Order: sequence, then structure tokens, then C-alpha cells
Amino acid sequence: MPDEPVICSDLAVVGAGAAGLYAALSAASAGASVTLVSATPLAQTASYWAQGGIAAALAVEDSFGRHLIDTEAAGRNLVRRSAAQVLVREAPARVHDLERLGVHFDADRRGVLALGLEGGHSVRRVVHAGGSATGRRVVRQLSALVVDNPNITVLEGARAASAWMHEGRCAGAALEDGRAVRARATILATGGAAALWSRTTNPPGSLGIGMSIAHAAGAALADLEFLQFHPTAVIGIPGREGFLVTEAIRGEGATLHGPDGERFVEELAPRDEVSRAIAALLARTGATSVGLDMRAVDPSLFPNVVSALQDAGLDPTRAPIPVSPASHYMMGGVVTDLHGRSTVGGLYAVGETACTGLHGANRLASNSLSECFVYGARAARAGLDEPAPAPPSTPPSAGASPEPPARATQEALWRDAGIVRTRVGLERLAGDPHPLARLIAACALRREESRGAHQRADFPALVPALDHRHTEIGRIEPLRAVRWA
Ligand SMILES: Cc1cc2nc3c(=O)[nH]c(=O)nc-3n(C[C@H](O)[C@H](O)[C@H](O)COP(=O)(O)OP(=O)(O)OC[C@H]3O[C@@H](n4cnc5c(N)ncnc54)[C@H](O)[C@@H]3O)c2cc1C
Repeated sequence: MPDEPVICSDLAVVGAGAAGLYAALSAASAGASVTLVSATPLAQTASYWAQGGIAAALAVEDSFGRHLIDTEAAGRNLVRRSAAQVLVREAPARVHDLERLGVHFDADRRGVLALGLEGGHSVRRVVHAGGSATGRRVVRQLSALVVDNPNITVLEGARAASAWMHEGRCAGAALEDGRAVRARATILATGGAAALWSRTTNPPGSLGIGMSIAHAAGAALADLEFLQFHPTAVIGIPGREGFLVTEAIRGEGATLHGPDGERFVEELAPRDEVSRAIAALLARTGATSVGLDMRAVDPSLFPNVVSALQDAGLDPTRAPIPVSPASHYMMGGVVTDLHGRSTVGGLYAVGETACTGLHGANRLASNSLSECFVYGARAARAGLDEPAPAPPSTPPSAGASPEPPARATQEALWRDAGIVRTRVGLERLAGDPHPLARLIAACALRREESRGAHQRADFPALVPALDHRHTEIGRIEPLRAVRWA
């Protein structure tokens, strides 16, 4: 019962974004009992905010191989091929399963899914729901199913503080309010860490909480130097600061223009390239924004983006809107295998919390929602095969939650671990009071090269010897560069 001090179930899932909701539903449909812990209301998940869509090789002219090639090209020789193969092979089945669960994806009159084109994809591959309302539609539907599912107990407004460790294994989760959930497996699905940076597209809760919880429990983290900056976030408009304008809009023909009105970048190049081109132009010209001209795009394709901009006093049907890059997606996270298992027994991570290695140094657009569903289902299955935890003699003490960052830490990350980094800045960040900021600095200092989202002014070249070397950092083990199978 939810009010008891220790709630027992087969699976504990922490976080109710796309990954957590889908993992919970997958386990429940196998007859398992699940306790789902969600700190915030639904609208505060990154999943709810997702505008682009879900990448899956569904088009006749597409193939798993082609999706893999695009994923690997974006990831700059750091993609773990086994993890990306799982993603591309299983994403189409997950899209069909979401349809079975009642998600209505955009389709033509014959029911053929309408596929969008996004940066880095060589073919139309992205399914949408309600145009740019994909995340909202999917999360709403999955949440409704979770609430109605008798196998799932939802603890809304409850916050996990730490992993419940017993005899070297994770036996569940300790909550801030003193309760605990005991389970065969605990799946961390708390989202990413992009809101650690001061200028972000993410909801304020994307603070790497699951990464901090896992690391404190002894799990390895990896690739924290790889934070993707989204090129087109609104800037200078109060109330809409950091609002993301999906690149699906560039896929439909929107163009980027410098202060002189000229185009300066291939708009559908991978995000790291477009972000760097914008940052370089802004540095060169002293401007604070570039213009995103979407006048040639049919506004009815992106109703919620257009209305959000209009609410903020911008009319994208009449004039370019001011945008510049913002921190968007953490490729690094809790090291997991291909079933979401971390390096600590009984502790799993999925979605943006996890680092399977599939995104490499730069995530391909819309691969992250696919990852939430593909790996959410896999982790649920694997978690149910874990042995039942031995009954611990006493429930864990509540423990302190990972600390939120001070504003100064967020500004330091933006300044010192931004689009272009240097040793001096990273060494300064390595002394920051926030533990996760220090780990990010350590990983970024260690990678003495420029690759994908990690650009070092002092090491501008990619070092081929570091291809497929992930920066892994344990709680006690020193930082090391590891090749994953
Ligand atoms: C504006 C925007 C647009 C995007 N568009 C796309 C897109 O079109 N396609 C795509 O593939 N990706 C997109 N992304 C990225 C994608 O949305 C995310 O990577 C993905 O949704 C992450 O899902 P998640 O389930 O891992 O985490 P989230 O959706 O962030 O959910 C995290 C959950 O964890 C909970 N939580 C956090 N801490 C605790 C705690 N201590 N205890 C309990 N609960 C906790 C939160 O309350 C929340 O419920 C976008 C991201 C943003 C910000």
C-alpha cells in the first residue's frame, strides 16, 4: 500500500517520462507488480516537451542498415554499434506497440504513417503525433494507461533520494519522505542533465538526479563530456527563453540567417555542426541571435510551436525569429549493458539517464524517444529476471537527495563546459562545489580532442586513437577510456 513505510513490488521505476512510463507498462503487461515514483507532474518531463518525434526505419526506402549508418555518422566514431543495432532493429516494433496502446501518429488518409525529415537523417524517418505535439500526446496516453493499470502503483509527488543498497546489491529505492520501495530491480528513468547548464531547452528538473543516485550507489558513469547543444532555441524573449524550435521545421524548409540576412550553414547538418556554426557567427559579429526564417513552412504542420511563438509576441509567419544554441541532451549517463543493467546488481537505468553508448559523441535527432521505448521494454524484461531481494533487516534511512546546483554552477557549466571548451575553463569547473559538475569537468578534461559535441579549442582535432573509447568514471575507480563490446 502506498502509505506503508516499505512498499514491495517486482519492479521499482523512478521517473515518469517516456522511458519510465513505458518500462512500467511493459512490466505490468507481463503480470508483474510495479511501483512508479514520479517527483513532478507530467508536464515537467522532457518527454512531454518533445516536439520532433520518434525515429524508426519504417519507410519503404529505409532500412535498419541505413538508420544505423546515420546514427553512426552523427555519433562520430563513438557509437557503440551493438547498442545502436538494437535500437534500429527494435524501434519500428515499439512504434507499432505505441499505436496498439492508443497513440495516434500522424498518417495520411490511407493510414500510412507520415514520416518527417530531421537533421542527420538521410531519409524521412520520424513519426509524429499532432505535428510538433508528439511528446505531449505520447506521454498523456501512456500516463492514462499507467493510472488505470491495477498492477502499477503510482507515487506521484514522491522523490527518490538514493538507491537502497543491501549486501552490495540494489534492493530498491529510498524516498525523500522516509518511505522505501523494495523490488527485484530498480530502474532509474529520471531524465538527463541538460538543465545543469544555465541556458537550456530542458525542464528545470533535468539535473542528472539518476546519475548522481547511481554514482553514489557505486555505479559507473560515462561520456559526461558529451552534452548536445540544440542550435535553435528562442533567445531574448521573456517567458520563452530557451523554447526549442524543432529541427523538423528546418526539415520542412526553414532557413537560418546571420545579421546580414545571408544563410551561413547547411541547416540539416548534424546538431553539433549547426550549433558551432551559429556560435562562431555570433562570436564573429557580436550579435546575440541568428534568424530562423520559417515563412516558407506551412504553419498548420507545427501548430503548438507556432502558437507558443505567437503567444510570446513573435509571428513566425511574418518575420524570422531570434534563436541561438542551448544545452539540450546529455549523451553520457549511467553505464548500462544492452538490457539497461548498470554496473551495480539490481540497479538499472533507461532513457536519457542511461549511457548505452548508442548516441556516441552526438545524438541523431529523434533517436532518444526511440531509445526510451526500446530500452525501457528491455530493462523491464531483464529486471523481472532478477532474484527477489533478501529481506533487509531494516528499511533504509531517508538519506539526502542529490543537491540541486547553485545558479553559479549552472553559469559555470555554460561558460566552462559550453560549445567550445579549454583546459583553463575546465580546470576551473573541476573545483565547482556541485559533484556532478566536477565529474563532467573531469571527463571533459580527460578527452584531449574535439569530437562531436565535445569541442576543445586547445585540442581542435579528432584523435583517431580515441575512436570508440568511452570515458568511464566509477565511484572509486579512476577515470579510464574503455572500449565497449
Ligand atoms: C524541448 C525538447 C524537445 C525534444 N524533442 C525530442 C524529439 O522530438 N525526439 C526525441 O527523440 N527526443 C526529443 N527530446 C529529448 C527527449 O525528449 C528526452 O531525451 C526524453 O524524453 C527523456 O525521457 P526520459 O523518460 O529519459 O526522461 P524525462 O522525460 O525527463 O522524465 C524524467 C522523469 O523523472 C522524474 N524524476 C526526476 N528526478 C526524480 C526523483 N528523484 N524521484 C522521482 N522522479 C524523478 C521527473 O519528474 C520525470 O517524471 C527533446 C527534449 C526537449 C527538452
